[in-house]
Amino acid sequence: MVRHRNLSSPAVASRPATSYIVRMQDHDHSQCAHAHGHIKLTPSRQLVLDKLCAAGRPVGAYEMIDILAAETGKRPAPVSVYRALDFLLENGLVHRLASRNAYMACAHQHGRSAPVAFLICEKCGRVTEATSPEIDEGLGRLAQDSGFVAQAQVVEITGRCKDCAA
Ligand SMILES: [Zn+2]
Ligand SMILES: [Zn+2]
Repeated sequence: MVRHRNLSSPAVASRPATSYIVRMQDHDHSQCAHAHGHIKLTPSRQLVLDKLCAAGRPVGAYEMIDILAAETGKRPAPVSVYRALDFLLENGLVHRLASRNAYMACAHQHGRSAPVAFLICEKCGRVTEATSPEIDEGLGRLAQDSGFVAQAQVVEITGRCKDCAA
């Protein structure tokens, strides 16, 4: 798992490293039902989600159109693809990476507005979704202190992944 220097605050740094290594495998399954349980997807939305999951990396809307065209033999209208992506976004099934202008399937099934961090390797392009209690807490407090009701909380961290940093 990738750890990033920018995530280290003094409070965090004093804990054992394992306490803030991003939560990838041990996500809380009790959150799944909350996040996904009652969402019914139309076939076209399901297809967009399936293709995003299969890609395992950020995919832009126009690339998604190409992928869908290759799959179905019919080129979907951009507006329908954007609508599908918006729906998936609103329901927490995908995230939008502003810096890449692209979408990525949620890797965690956390609550729909839970903060997430993306670790974006600028060398190999690998993008890893990470959540951590410290991010939840820190960002949650930041919004709360400002009386701000957060909707999407996406932190994008660019740098080198473990393999590329070596
Ligand atoms: Zn996610
Ligand atoms: Zn890399």
